[in-house]
Amino acid sequence: MQFKIYNTLTRTVEDFEPLVAGKVTLYTCGPTVYNAPHIGNLRSFIFEDVLRRALELFGFSVAHVMNLTDIEDKIIAKVMETGLTLDEVTEPHIEAFFENLDLLHAQRAHHYPRATRYIEPMIAMIETLIERDHAYESDGSVYFRVESFKDYGRLSRVDLSQMRKGERVTSDEYTKDDVRDFVLWKAAKEGEPAWQSPWGQGRPGWHIECSAMARDLLATNIDLHCGGVDNIFPHHENEIAQSECSADGAFARYWVHAEHLLVDSKKMSKSLGNQYLLSDLAERGISARAVRYLFTSVHYRQKLNFTFQSTEQAVAALRRLDEMRTRLARATSKSAEGGGLQELADAFRSAFQATIGDDLNLSGSHGEVFQFVRGVNRELDAGPVSVAGARAVEEAIDFADSVLGTLKAEDWQVGEAAPEDQDGLSAEDVESLIVARAAARSNRDFAEADRLRDELTAAGIVLEDGPSGTTWKRA
Ligand code: AMP
Ligand code: ZN
Repeated sequence: MQFKIYNTLTRTVEDFEPLVAGKVTLYTCGPTVYNAPHIGNLRSFIFEDVLRRALELFGFSVAHVMNLTDIEDKIIAKVMETGLTLDEVTEPHIEAFFENLDLLHAQRAHHYPRATRYIEPMIAMIETLIERDHAYESDGSVYFRVESFKDYGRLSRVDLSQMRKGERVTSDEYTKDDVRDFVLWKAAKEGEPAWQSPWGQGRPGWHIECSAMARDLLATNIDLHCGGVDNIFPHHENEIAQSECSADGAFARYWVHAEHLLVDSKKMSKSLGNQYLLSDLAERGISARAVRYLFTSVHYRQKLNFTFQSTEQAVAALRRLDEMRTRLARATSKSAEGGGLQELADAFRSAFQATIGDDLNLSGSHGEVFQFVRGVNRELDAGPVSVAGARAVEEAIDFADSVLGTLKAEDWQVGEAAPEDQDGLSAEDVESLIVARAAARSNRDFAEADRLRDELTAAGIVLEDGPSGTTWKRA
């Protein structure tokens, strides 16, 4: 089956073919480690996680690098203000970043290079750019000469003629020849953290770090480069300029960008007070599993509108899935035949793979998941199902979950304050009491069955006995 992805360079969905058959080099722009990541940043990181997992489902072996931007104006201001070292300022935020990734069950990249550890390759790349006349030094800083790269603007399709050109300008307190030029190396101001370079004490610009680290850790020409849509211009445009003017060939063949997350249809911002962290959501009883579900159920090229109602819908959807799996676990007979479930599972696997392989159609993939859940429930309604059939269903769920990472409640039990855990009985406790009650009833031990129902009622659980077994909800 062919994997397809939307390439921002061409603005079309393309067949994905890596440079080396079966192997993918993936570079994703990581966090600026000044704050804990907000849920918008996390949406982008989870999109990248899903992309990598989908490539792996299609049999590719992926080498994944994500940078940590640990040198930047706000970080420097903090160093100056507190007297702490750069690492002391960034370390707690790096830890928070990894903690967030773990909470959301993101796979770790193979490398998380910190910009400050790659100053040498950055300087080398800047020297090459100067040699090739794509960059120039001015007052101890170095700038990329945008006019020297004829393909500048190819990714973002910015209209350079709209940007004023030619005049010598002072911007950001540094002097450059042309307003469109961007900084590769910034001369240090008194007392700032700085590194020695051929142009004096200074520090790298933001864009050069990704170009240099991608080359150092992956290759000069890579397959995939990702980030949020705000990275397209100027960051990714500038990365292309630096990488392609200092070596031959295309920097990345496919550029893939995630749309932004909005809160209540608004941009997240401190002033609106709607900039949530994962910990803010946990305090409101929203589990990381529900957050990951929400992130993975909307197409990455669509804006994701985060609302508290949408998290409730996520919890309800996951509950439907969990209930099906609980029913399946207790409703098997010894018959060896897979029967209807085997067919359903096979059909689901191929439909899921086709949908996820079609430019990561996440909403479509969830449509397939819940159509499968309905089909399995119908089989369960019709009578006992075979052990082999139940196993086929579980294996198909594992297959889809290798990409989605939310489908199995048992993977999310440890250390999580899921909303359903707050009333005293976890979903698992409830399920096992329901199973015990069903067993008591089938043994005609009605006193025990009533006792178990009372125990559940006391914990705020409402049972509904129907033709397809017992379902439950919280009062
Ligand atoms: P930063 O830490 O600001 O460098 O951003 C890290 C990543 O988060 C980048 O890939 C950004 O494009 C992405 N990002 C920033 N804001 C949002 C948002 N509201 N929604 C989705 N992604 C975002
Ligand atoms: Zn970057």
